[in-house]
Amino acid sequence: MRVNREKCVGCGQCVMFCPMDCFEMRDGSALINENECVDCGVCLKSARCPAGALFMPEENFEYPRAIRMQFSDPTVKHPRQNTGGRGTEEAKTNDVTAKFRRGEYGLMLEFGRPCVGVWLKEIEKVTKRMYELGIEILDDNPIFGLLDDDGSGNLKKEFADEKVLSTILELKISGEDELMSSLERILPILDTMNTVVSVGIVTRFDDGGGLALVDRLENAGIPVRPAAKINVGLGRPLKRD
Ligand code: SF4
Ligand code: SF4
Repeated sequence: MRVNREKCVGCGQCVMFCPMDCFEMRDGSALINENECVDCGVCLKSARCPAGALFMPEENFEYPRAIRMQFSDPTVKHPRQNTGGRGTEEAKTNDVTAKFRRGEYGLMLEFGRPCVGVWLKEIEKVTKRMYELGIEILDDNPIFGLLDDDGSGNLKKEFADEKVLSTILELKISGEDELMSSLERILPILDTMNTVVSVGIVTRFDDGGGLALVDRLENAGIPVRPAAKINVGLGRPLKRD
């Protein structure tokens, strides 16, 4: 995003809408730190600018910069996945899609947050380790499309210096033992990252309605806050496992 400083009247109305704190008032008009701006479009969509001074420069729609708005503005689609936003959100729809079947676990690593964001080169630390461990990164996840095709987990170089508001890396792990050993190896990497990371596990209830996995995680020193978000069909056929 950019400010046309010829038009800007210096009212400061745009400043409060930025989730990345990118605005600065200088010499009577607004200025955006375009390195930190993630092109989420919130300032423009707030429609508070009385002077029509905010605009998205044409070059921000070009790669690699275009990746910022694809992750940070949910109304912009990732062309490869034809979805918008930071992840495919299958954690919320597994009751319908059965993407993660019995014995399979979804591991969701959510990087960044409003006010923090995440540089994509930070995520490479995790994707490289994933490939070394042989853990599958789901190919319908937006991050998958940013990786080199050589199976190294390296980010395509042109994306390394791009920043987004947040993104969710989605992984599929078969077997509870494999899940535990993967967590043991992944969690220390997250501590080295220059952003906030939330870890989520997608699983099904045990046959008796319990979640034995919770005890196992807590016994391993991993705090758990169980949560359920259930979609009941949304017009899609239920897949059975
Ligand atoms: S596009 Fe988003 S990140 Fe950029 S200045 Fe506007 S509100 Fe801030
Ligand atoms: S809202 Fe518009 S006119 Fe007011 S400071 Fe921001 S860019 Fe300038």
